Amino acid sequence: ERKALEKMKGKESVTKDGQRVQLAGNIGTPNDLAGLQENDAEGVGLFRTEFLYMNRDTMPSEEEQFQAYKKVLETMNPKPIVIRTLDIGGDKNLSYLKIDKEMNPFLGYRAIRLCLVEQEFFKTQLRAILRASVYGNLKIMFPMISSIEELLQAKEVLNQVKGDLDQEGMKYASDVEVGIMIEVPSAAIISDLLAKHVDFFSIGTNDLIQYTCAVDRLNEKIHHLYQPFNPAVLRLIKTVIDNGHKAGIWVGMCGEIAGDKRMIPILIGMGLDKFSMSPISILPARKQMRELSVAECEKVTEKVLSLGSAEEIKLYLESLRI
Ligand code: PEP
Ligand code: MG
Repeated sequence: ERKALEKMKGKESVTKDGQRVQLAGNIGTPNDLAGLQENDAEGVGLFRTEFLYMNRDTMPSEEEQFQAYKKVLETMNPKPIVIRTLDIGGDKNLSYLKIDKEMNPFLGYRAIRLCLVEQEFFKTQLRAILRASVYGNLKIMFPMISSIEELLQAKEVLNQVKGDLDQEGMKYASDVEVGIMIEVPSAAIISDLLAKHVDFFSIGTNDLIQYTCAVDRLNEKIHHLYQPFNPAVLRLIKTVIDNGHKAGIWVGMCGEIAGDKRMIPILIGMGLDKFSMSPISILPARKQMRELSVAECEKVTEKVLSLGSAEEIKLYLESLRI
């Protein structure tokens, strides 16, 4: 088994019938670089930058952040690195940033909502990210976007920061792609509109499932309702991929299910361009993909989308021995 996976290193992530996909890793800090390299990641599809901010008493300085981003970009160059801006709040808190206690933190003051208010905080991070952009292949991603206004505001702040750097004579790459996480149902539903303003989407199924099904992703009691194969979730995923492609942008996924063996054929059948997962899942996913054809995946997807419940879908996938 291990040997078969070792053989996947250096091989292309391509289906039997020649469809290339990208297999990238999710990371939290530069310490995760070793895992990316050991598992032959084709880049980073999600750099969860909040880990640089957590478990400390003060905010990381621009310089500290710059060094961390630079290290990842430089080490992986020329592979693409998607840096997600701060996603704090929800289940993640910072001791040095007081957030009032909330009834529903996952529906509350978190991620881009917080960054658009705490703009100095946000700008410091964007400065560090942009300054690091000259050391590799950087893409910026905003979390928890739920409307057009929010996206345009975030892009406006990014432009302001670029203007500041221009004035100071600081260099940054001029071609940095800007994308968003699609992890809120409202964003998935208007993904046709959002697609006009970004270079890419990355579907965050961890949150998309929780918000679509109204199931707290951390609540053990209702865990059985947290269901990736819920037809509502699958339809939203398909909508997002279709809308992205119609607008000519690429669509990735960085939620846990991107590395799920049963989900991979469905996602290939839907035309997902990029899969980002825990690095340990990359080689198994590559092995599986190389044994699949797009044509057969499309059939699986069509069948799955015709079924009415998660239970039926799982039974069908089991019958395929996936
Ligand atoms: C997601 O919501 O799917 C995601 C990748 O982000 P996080 O798990 O960090 O919320
Ligand atoms: Mg999320």
